[in-house]
Amino acid sequence: MGRIFTPSAETFPATADAVVIGGGIVGVASAFWLSRAGLDTVLVEMRDGLSTLTTPNSIECFRAQFTEPAMAELALPSIEVFENFADVVGLAGYDISIRQQGYLFVTDDEGQIDDLQAAVAKHRALGVTDSEFLDHDDLLARFPYLSDRVVGATFRQRDGWLSTHEATQGLAKGSTATFLVSTKATGIQQDARGICAVETTRGTIATRVVVNAAGPFAGVVGRMAGLDLPLEPVRRQKVFVSPKPTIPQDAPLTIDLAEDAYWRPETGGAYIAWVDPDEPAGEPAEELPTEWDFAAIVLEKLIRLNPFWEEIADTLKSEDLHPSAGQYVYTPDEQPLIGPVPEVPGFYVNCGYWAGVMLSPEAGRRIAYLVTGEMKPEENLLRPTRYAEGIVYQGDSFLRGRH
Ligand SMILES: Cc1cc2nc3c(=O)[nH]c(=O)nc-3n(C[C@H](O)[C@H](O)[C@H](O)COP(=O)(O)OP(=O)(O)OC[C@H]3O[C@@H](n4cnc5c(N)ncnc54)[C@H](O)[C@@H]3O)c2cc1C
Repeated sequence: MGRIFTPSAETFPATADAVVIGGGIVGVASAFWLSRAGLDTVLVEMRDGLSTLTTPNSIECFRAQFTEPAMAELALPSIEVFENFADVVGLAGYDISIRQQGYLFVTDDEGQIDDLQAAVAKHRALGVTDSEFLDHDDLLARFPYLSDRVVGATFRQRDGWLSTHEATQGLAKGSTATFLVSTKATGIQQDARGICAVETTRGTIATRVVVNAAGPFAGVVGRMAGLDLPLEPVRRQKVFVSPKPTIPQDAPLTIDLAEDAYWRPETGGAYIAWVDPDEPAGEPAEELPTEWDFAAIVLEKLIRLNPFWEEIADTLKSEDLHPSAGQYVYTPDEQPLIGPVPEVPGFYVNCGYWAGVMLSPEAGRRIAYLVTGEMKPEENLLRPTRYAEGIVYQGDSFLRGRH
């Protein structure tokens, strides 16, 4: 079973087959699969616990409704891991609170109908065979909380959400890796063969393999190896709304496509959010401010297609609203960077996510396949060399936040 602890001088490991930098869900999934592949794996996390930066500030959803081949290729097997989590991690009865209430991308704009139908056709071509196009009548019959003005949507019932805390802890416990918390990577040493050690605030670990899973700080870790990775952190806010009896708890994640605003039920209340296309790229940060008027902006957007929010908005008090923020990390094609960086032998990246929760299980497995040679770098669509190779597939999945 994986061990999570703050190391002392006596318990600090001097060597490892692989060192993962970053203990969010992406790094922990990487450590899980590396250890399952038989590598003595050490993960270092600078904060005092796993999954304490971006991962817990997400709205914890997963979907297979992608139109990019590389994203669907990660999402489908990742959902299978979530669906069979206890078996995969080998912890009988382990519960990640999975809820498959679906993702509904809905619009009142006739001009978007063609895009919706094209998206479903692309899903099918990529093996996502159970997404559906729904018209006005289907929508009102299945989701009576919607406004009469809706004209179409895509929907997939097996999309949903889970507890990222439980998923991250389960991957850690189900691994045989060592998780060092309150341990910050501060430098990366190289010799003639490539990576040879990771320096941390508690000591140096000799290793030939490093996985950069530092989330918004992946650019900083890349620079430790002399690399300039194409990563842009962008703040994203969300608000938890305290329980209200009129929030439909059986609803899917409901996204207003014209507004890029969305909500989903959560323990009697709801998460509400908006992916602001004008939010500028920023520096990686552990503390991020939230805007006082963000909830009001989101509610105004949501009311259009989800009119029940109007009455709730009228009665909300500030103590009903719990805002938080994290960072999406964009790459030039809005798809993650996964795999070895040839300029620095032994240096692997698993970063550049705006949807890292839902892709993490398969992305972590892919890192292990690439490290062990089970997958060749050229078979991996998300290799970091793709920009230099000119093989970029520009994404058009909904709700990326960039158009
Ligand atoms: C509002 C919002 C909603 C979102 N909703 C969803 C969603 O529904 N579904 C989804 O899939 N994604 C969602 N996301 C995105 C998702 O949260 C991220 O893509 C995902 O959490 C990234 O995981 P990570 O492990 O890469 O990063 P993180 O969780 O940030 O983990 C990186 C870790 O690296 C550590 N670290 C950094 N530098 C160092 C260092 N030098 N040494 C040691 N440790 C270091 C950090 O402390 C951190 O713990 C959302 C994000 C936001 C902000």
